[in-house]
Amino acid sequence: MMERRPASDLATVLRAAAFAAHKHRNQRRKDAGASPYINHPLALAAVLAHEGGVDDPVTLAAALLHDTVEDTETTAQELASAFGAEVAAVVMEVTDDKTLPKPERKRLQVEHAATMSDRAQLVKLADKICNLRDVAASPPADWPLERRQAYFDWAKQVVDRLRGVHPGLEAVFDATFAARPVD
Ligand code: ZN
Repeated sequence: MMERRPASDLATVLRAAAFAAHKHRNQRRKDAGASPYINHPLALAAVLAHEGGVDDPVTLAAALLHDTVEDTETTAQELASAFGAEVAAVVMEVTDDKTLPKPERKRLQVEHAATMSDRAQLVKLADKICNLRDVAASPPADWPLERRQAYFDWAKQVVDRLRGVHPGLEAVFDATFAARPVD
């Protein structure tokens, strides 16, 4: 008899990747080459699984879906129906309230980082690792040095509030932070 549970967990994670690819199908990243948006959620899942050894399917599915509510027309209810309440709850924990001005959203990310669930902290940590790598390697063409530095510093403020959730990935973050742009 085949083991059912791992196959079903893997199926959920792959379904989340396909769902996110569909939802982000018309979006591009801000890098000069305008990469397909789905590369970003896929990178988060890869950081968690390959660099962090995370195999929890709820965390991996939430990582793949983490920008669908914030950046597409997807609703929390839609995620709950398709992937269950746990996955939807993690995605909502890492979703900014876009009705707020950007500086307030950035401040709230720092404030909320310490009190989020472990799963949401893992997704947030992987998000910051991936975004710093992108800003270091292929920043948006219109970001001057100060803006890139400010982004690195803000990401570190967020990560400093969630330390303890995964020391290995926190070390990956610190190694990534070492590439903070300088003149
Ligand atoms: Zn993201």
